[in-house]
Amino acid sequence: MAIESPRPLLTGKKALVVGIANEHSIAYGCAKAFHMMGAEVAVTYLNEKAKPYVEPLAQELAAPILLPLDVSQPGQLEELFTTITAQWGRLDCLVHAIAFAPKADLQGGLLNCSAAGFAQAMDISCHSFIRMARLAAPLMTEGGAMFAMTFNGANAVVPNYNVMGPIKAALESTCRYLAFELGRQGIRVHAISPGPVKTRAASGLKDFDTLLAQTAQRAPLGTLVDIMDVGYTCAFLASPEARHLTGSTMYVDGGLKIMG
Ligand code: NAD
Repeated sequence: MAIESPRPLLTGKKALVVGIANEHSIAYGCAKAFHMMGAEVAVTYLNEKAKPYVEPLAQELAAPILLPLDVSQPGQLEELFTTITAQWGRLDCLVHAIAFAPKADLQGGLLNCSAAGFAQAMDISCHSFIRMARLAAPLMTEGGAMFAMTFNGANAVVPNYNVMGPIKAALESTCRYLAFELGRQGIRVHAISPGPVKTRAASGLKDFDTLLAQTAQRAPLGTLVDIMDVGYTCAFLASPEARHLTGSTMYVDGGLKIMG
């Protein structure tokens, strides 16, 4: 008897991926993996300055939707979802891969973080995921999967991660509460925790190259992860094969998390 070759995991799915700045972005790895697995992908760019870097990637991904999104601009998120509703009428996957903290608040140590800087970091890096989930959930009429990118600096002290530690801790908890609130609608929510990856956001962290070198040395698998490792993990978790998995913080880190 002939064995049928498997269908790509995400055939016919519609995915929104937020957070592509350039070809090094974790969001790009997610969008590429989703596209390779058969999904249609909608992507966004932060502003006109970012657009020339994102547009060619959107073309390569054959993205039918490419729109601006700065989550701190009132109305932009709503406009994006209005377009998705008009064009697709539904959504299956959502990836939130954005983070921001003002430089002085990020690099000055947690003790010196201002209230305004903390609030801005929390709004862009965490609460925006709640806002996206609220708009995405009604479109996930056949169930769905949502992902937010975190880092193990949420749970253990990673020198120089500073204010982003508490912010990512809030994001991980947010994923668990959303998984609870959306579970009965068949919507699954995961926090994805990649090991360090050289991206533009990461370049804002002091001594990041040292962290990369230490990670490659300490991780049981002995290598750094890349953006496609993160993308393939999200693609699997978004697939029907992972339908009973929700609420986890999934480490994509070569095993670093198990090290003392
Ligand atoms: P990146 O610089 O490629 O992506 C960060 C994105 O955030 C950019 O596309 C930027 O435009 C977007 N962004 C910032 N402010 C925004 C706003 N107001 N509205 C909309 N978008 C905004 O860097 P990355 O490393 O790919 O970061 C993606 C996610 O992965 C972040 O949540 C980051 O904390 C997380 N993460 C990164 C690493 C790493 O080592 N690079 C590890 C674990 C988790």
